[in-house]
Amino acid sequence: MKGVFRIPGAVLAGSVVLFFAVLHGGSPVAPLPVAAGRQADVGRATAVRLLAFGDVNLARRLGQRLVEGDTLYPFEGVKDTLSTYDIVFANLESNISEQHGRTEDPRSNVVFTAPPAAARALQRAGITVVSTANNHALDFGLRALRETLAFLDSAGVAHAGTAVDAAALYRPAIVTVRGFRCAFFAVTDIMNGGGDEWKRWVAAADTAQIFPAVRKIRGNVDLVVLSFHGGDEYADVASERTRWFARAALDNGVDIFLGHHPHVPYGIEVRGRGIAVHSLGNFVFKQPGRFWTEHGYALSCTLTRAGGAANVGEIRILPLRAGFQPVFVTERDEFQKVYDRVRTLSQQQAWERLKW
Ligand SMILES: [Zn+2]
Repeated sequence: MKGVFRIPGAVLAGSVVLFFAVLHGGSPVAPLPVAAGRQADVGRATAVRLLAFGDVNLARRLGQRLVEGDTLYPFEGVKDTLSTYDIVFANLESNISEQHGRTEDPRSNVVFTAPPAAARALQRAGITVVSTANNHALDFGLRALRETLAFLDSAGVAHAGTAVDAAALYRPAIVTVRGFRCAFFAVTDIMNGGGDEWKRWVAAADTAQIFPAVRKIRGNVDLVVLSFHGGDEYADVASERTRWFARAALDNGVDIFLGHHPHVPYGIEVRGRGIAVHSLGNFVFKQPGRFWTEHGYALSCTLTRAGGAANVGEIRILPLRAGFQPVFVTERDEFQKVYDRVRTLSQQQAWERLKW
């Protein structure tokens, strides 16, 4: 599949089509899909490349495949691209715990856990940092939450958003690449089961907790990322609460805000030096039946330094077909649909910065 769309002439033709479409008042045509991860800026010595994905569920039926030992399967279609990035983030919606072959509650398939092999699957795929703050963080109880952190630690996958020790709850994962220090925070605005006790172990989207933590570390790192799990599932547009929280996050020193949980992708906005994605949609998550639960995107950023300060440079959208084994979209009509949706749902100023 790779190579087909990489012919410079084809990319140029895409730009020409776009130019004429705009000129003649038609709806803009997306540039032809470029093989993901092979853009011209690869290898620029002073730049760090970051790729961010939405929801990952390695439990349920896919979890059974991992129980059988096939740890390459979930990321087989994307791992070549992931290997071209320095930092790869995703929201890990499923715990990773030992339930002796069980990967979901027999009474409810919305209560699930991935098996221990899932940590190895993430590590082999090149996923370097995950959020564990989401509404499924306590699906299998506190023991499973504790095991999740231990399995991630042993696989060398950084994590943020849950902790056994309350003092560590709003502590970011620090990922350092070539001297470039990135802090990853993660919070959730929603929890299955209700009550408030969960806030002892799972970082809540509480402005009185998270923003002081962001401001405190801001001067000591090059980049601050905040993962936000919230909003309304399957809604056509991002919730007011998500938009408000995103703006407040950027105003408080967050550089990149990454939304997920609606299971459908939304648009992007910029504010000051920051960028907010309202929802990345699904990644490794099988929710068949609707186009937008089966399509999301990855956000690709190039982080550069200008006169000592760090900047989010190029921002690229990589459309995805989500599922048990996601792939980047290379089919023309499918690509166009994601392009049109992001265009419709993005702030104009942000849209002008996006590359595809
Ligand atoms: Zn969720």
